[in-house]
Parts: sequence; structure tokens; C-alpha cells
Amino acid sequence: MRKERLWAGLLGLERAVVESVEIDDGEQVVVAVRPHHRERDRCGVCGRRAPGFDLGEGRRRWRALDLGTTVAYLEADAPRVKCPEHGVVVCAVPWARHGSRFTRAFEQQVAWLAVNTSGSAVAELMRTSWRSVGAICERVAAEAGCEADLLAGLRRIGIDEISHRKGQRYLTVVVDHDTGRLVWAAPGRDKATVEAFFDALGEKRAKRLKLVSCDMAGWIEAVLAKRCPKAKRCVDPFHVIQLATEALDKVRREVWNEARRAGQTDAARQLKGARFCLWKNPENLTERQQSKLADIERLNRPLYRAYLLKEQLRQIYRLGPNVAIRLLEDWLAWARRSRLPPFIKLARTITDQRQGIVAAIRHGLSNARVEAINTQIRLIARRAFGFHSAEALISLAMLKLGGLCPPLPGRVTVT
Ligand SMILES: [Zn+2]
Repeated sequence: MRKERLWAGLLGLERAVVESVEIDDGEQVVVAVRPHHRERDRCGVCGRRAPGFDLGEGRRRWRALDLGTTVAYLEADAPRVKCPEHGVVVCAVPWARHGSRFTRAFEQQVAWLAVNTSGSAVAELMRTSWRSVGAICERVAAEAGCEADLLAGLRRIGIDEISHRKGQRYLTVVVDHDTGRLVWAAPGRDKATVEAFFDALGEKRAKRLKLVSCDMAGWIEAVLAKRCPKAKRCVDPFHVIQLATEALDKVRREVWNEARRAGQTDAARQLKGARFCLWKNPENLTERQQSKLADIERLNRPLYRAYLLKEQLRQIYRLGPNVAIRLLEDWLAWARRSRLPPFIKLARTITDQRQGIVAAIRHGLSNARVEAINTQIRLIARRAFGFHSAEALISLAMLKLGGLCPPLPGRVTVT
């Protein structure tokens, strides 16, 4: 094997020729390369051949994977072409993505590590900044997203919103109920964001959607009615129960304030501490919390009634559809006569949303997968702190939860 071929092999270079190898200051290996003849004069954006324009800004370097313990760079000319579509752009090179200072293999490995290890491990191992990791994830996910069509064959999806940072920054995410994969995400939570999803999906595929689960937000409903009127809208059980928990908490605060105003300091203190035993599912209560609940039953009827209302609503979702739908009617009647304003209001909301709530019960659309994805995105968001944009966070989420993570360089994908 000739020396140049050996170097090309070591660097995983394809469609390129090694011209020379130097060790700079004894600290870094710099490998001069050029694209194969067939790969030259191509637009960096679209990859099509285009007439040459100029020599650009001369020689350029790309960080490559370390060679053993030594940092390595590829170095080459970076001439420009004039693409009929994209104007004057730097030529494409086979070893790197357009606009990147890293080689393809380097980026592949960073993306894989970002998905599979801790943030600080990636940055330290790859001798790069966490911010650069974000930008790399963006490029790798964008390319993988073009190659794999995540929106193909969708039948049952869940649309949800996640606040990913304090200060009300939201993402709208779309999850495939059948595979549990994250298939789409974008910053924002409004009609325009949901419209953007349907634009990406296309009319034909929107028509094939059977079930769409979401919360009760009017902005999602309006777009669904317009873009996929035949799909059944299912109101996420999680969001319904969440509203009941909030109503219960309102009742608790009201009776607490009343007790405080009436100078019943003991009762007020008891109620304040009761928050967790009211929130928790009864099967998870500790012995102490159980006895606290018994106290509430004895001392505070309205609050205990509110607790039972919340619990019964939760139980409805554990029953078969026929019993559940009948019980939902009973529940509504009970809530309306409960003399608890937050639950009377909730009964009104549920009545308005009945169609979607019943559809969710009938089709047994479990939101477990959407919730699992949301939990994961929140974890990723915490890690992605320091990325420069929401797009970088979304890219990391798509790599990890959308199945877009590339294999490590030089290995075959196992799916
Ligand atoms: Zn082009």
C-alpha cells in the first residue's frame, strides 16, 4: 500500500486524495488533501456541478478525528463556484459538511457521543466546546432528517407543547404513537407552528391521519379542524387529570385562606402540609399521609369532596371504554352539584371538550409515549443549556428521540 493510501485509510477519507502529511510543531498532524477529480467544482449547498468562480480565501483546515493521541487536521484549497441556484459559494468537499470546520467523521462521532454520553464528556474527549457540539448536532440532524423521512406512514400522533426554559420558551412537538418516536419539533406554541407541521407533512399524508391526541388548547384544535378534519381529536387524559389536580389545589388554597383568616392557625398549618397527600395517587401514600387524608375527611368536607372528585376522574381512565364513558357522565353531574367553584368550572370545560375526551377513552390512546418523550426533552433541555439556539436543542432531541443518531464513524448501522 502506498503511503498516501495508508493515510487516506487511517483518516477514513473517501473520494479524496492525500497529497502530503506534516507534523506541525510536533503537536498536530496536518494532512494536505484534495477531492477526487469527479468531486471538484460542486456547489457546497446543493452538490451540483457549477462553473468555477475564484480561489476563495486560500487554504482551509478541518479538524479531523485524533490520530492516536495527536490532534489532526485536513488541509485543502477552498475555491468557490457560481451555482445557478445558490450564487457564489465555497465548493463542496467530500470529507466535511458545508460550512463546517470539522470533518464528517469528527461530527459523526460528536453527535453519537452527545446522544450517548454526558455533555462534559463529549466536549473534553473531542477537545471542543459544548457550543460547537450544539452546532454539530444541528448539521448532523439536518442531514439525517433529509435522508430519513420521519413523517412517512403516520397514523396516530400526539401534539404537545413543552416549556424548555424558564421565561416561557416553548417547543411544539409531534410524537408517533405507534413507534414512540419524536417525529417533528419546532420552537413556539401557536397556530403558525402547528400549521408548519402540516406544511411539512403535506396534504396527502395529513388525510391518512386517524387519531391526533393533544391538550385542550384552542389553537391546536383550530388547525386540526382545517388541516385534517377527518382525524379524530383525542384529548390527552394527562391534561384532563392535570386540570382536576389544579382544581383540587384551588379548593385547598381557599379553605386554607379561610382557616387563616378565621384565626385557626392549627388547621391552616395542617392544610398547608396536606398538599402532597392530596396530590399523590392513593396507592403511593405513606402511612403518615394516609392518616393526614383521614384527618381531612373528618375535619374538612369540601376539601375531601374535591379530593374524591379528582381521584374518581383519574380512575375513569383505568376502566374499559363503556363503563368509563358512563362514569364520566356521572362524574360531570357530581362535579356540577359539588358547590366547589373550581370543579363546577372544570365540569364546564370537560363538557365542552367531551367529544375529544370520549374519543381518547374509546380509542384507548395512551399518552404514555408522548409523556415519556416530554420527560426526555426536558432532560435534554437541561443539558442543552449553553447551546446557542433552540434549533440546536431540537437537533439533539431529534438525534436521540427521533432515531436520527448516526453510527460511530467506520461502523455499520444496526437497526
Ligand atoms: Zn447550488
